[in-house]
Amino acid sequence: MTSHDSIILKPKNIAMVAHDHEKKSLLEWAKQYSDILIKHHLFATGTTGKLLETALQMEVHKFKSGPLGGDLEVGAYISEGKIDMLIFFWDPLEPQPHDPDVKALLRIAAVWNVPVACNRASADYIINSPLVSQDYHRIVPNFDAYNARFKDGINCQSR
Ligand code: PGA
Repeated sequence: MTSHDSIILKPKNIAMVAHDHEKKSLLEWAKQYSDILIKHHLFATGTTGKLLETALQMEVHKFKSGPLGGDLEVGAYISEGKIDMLIFFWDPLEPQPHDPDVKALLRIAAVWNVPVACNRASADYIINSPLVSQDYHRIVPNFDAYNARFKDGINCQSR
């Protein structure tokens, strides 16, 4: 697979999601770094977004609630190149009804080389990176070969 660079100019588009038992932790973290977050564009699943707006007193682009499709909406934004980093405090101790969507979101972030923090420590590392406040050349995989795999059509009688 070949790659090319995608230039991300500041401010960054930061997506945030927190499962119910992790919401308190995410809000505490967001308040701790509100001076940094205020300089960026925030996106979040519905309930997380409402709580963040109240806590930070800033506008948050809110998707549907996670279990109602919000995780997949975040994933769609990632696949469209609209999200620069994902702060996703998922709950490691509680089964989620939308577990397939959680997996899908984590998978699509990996596909598009989007940095992901899954807890406060990893979120601390990401938000304190000097790259957050700089232009960053994120390597985005080039899927041309994948997209062209049926370019010559398909033989429907081969089976
Ligand atoms: P919520 O969704 O922010 O709407 O609670 C989070 C999730 O469970 O994915």
